[in-house]
Amino acid sequence: MKKRVAKIGGLLAEKGIDAMLVMQPENRYYLSGFTGDTGALLITADDSFICTDFRYIEQAREQSPHLQVARVTDTLVEKLAAMREDIGLRTLAFEGDFINYTMYNTLGDKLPGVELVPLDGAVEKLRRVKDRSELAAIAKSMAMLDRGFEYICGFIKPGITEIAVSLELEIFMRHQGASGTSFPFIVASGPRASLPHGEASDRVIGEGDILTLDFGVIMEHYCSDMTRTVTVGAAPPEMEKIYYIVLEAQHAGLKAVKAGVSASSVDKAARDVIEAHGYGEYFGHGTGHGVGLAVHEAPRLSARDDTVLEAGMVVTVEPGIYLPGRGGVRIEDSVVVEQNGCRLLTNSPKDALLVIS
Ligand code: ZN
Ligand code: ZN
Repeated sequence: MKKRVAKIGGLLAEKGIDAMLVMQPENRYYLSGFTGDTGALLITADDSFICTDFRYIEQAREQSPHLQVARVTDTLVEKLAAMREDIGLRTLAFEGDFINYTMYNTLGDKLPGVELVPLDGAVEKLRRVKDRSELAAIAKSMAMLDRGFEYICGFIKPGITEIAVSLELEIFMRHQGASGTSFPFIVASGPRASLPHGEASDRVIGEGDILTLDFGVIMEHYCSDMTRTVTVGAAPPEMEKIYYIVLEAQHAGLKAVKAGVSASSVDKAARDVIEAHGYGEYFGHGTGHGVGLAVHEAPRLSARDDTVLEAGMVVTVEPGIYLPGRGGVRIEDSVVVEQNGCRLLTNSPKDALLVIS
């Protein structure tokens, strides 16, 4: 973490900025290891601080030995004002996409004469490539999904609700050691499967329903993400047809992932397959996204993201086809980008449409 802080310090020096205030929770954790609810980092090229109040002083010292602990007695901004002289603060970078309007105004009021500079994506950019310890945590989190999927396939049957499936799956994985879910699970059955983000509802799953399960957990602070589409009883022929198109698209996407290619080229590889089959207009989201401390992070595998993939990035590949009112299919795996390809982190079966009977 010391190295990560030094990288941000170096970036600030390069840009001629005196300090950066880091408050976004995942960014803060990435640079500090601090897990308390209240705290902000003040990074400079030389010294870096974690500013927190009485309740978290001991915790901050323990979790962030590479940072100086600055005790906040009044408000964070008052503390920054008090530190201003010592650190020679004339320009202060902040996370423009995180700090709200009120906080921005308060910074302006309490730090008169200090130039406020939005610096978006600086920490997020570092977070894109995972180090070995991060990859180990992510692999653990992802492996839990394979266990969860195997378990839940034995639980699903006609007559139970989507919510029952979602809860059962969550409780199973929590018992197995997941510390939480990385997002509210998507359990979308029958016609609801056409909702790309159909959170579990009280709909009762019936015979012949297609069922999309998109779920993820958090382990050691790292998220995981996987989707499988199954059917309960025999699938409607149209759903079976689009399942194999999505599968072909997903294989094409996975095959395209390797260091040195652009994120958008992976999106294109998957999208081309779906378009060639005439379903292009029914695939309205990007092909994937980075996964790490946040379940959705940079890079995005979309037509608009030209990030060049690097070894050590973790991304999802998740094409889908959604037919309004009829149903839909999505298949999602998470992978580590490698020099000449990628390595799957989620390994649940997908090569045939799984029929649960
Ligand atoms: Zn997902
Ligand atoms: Zn995803």
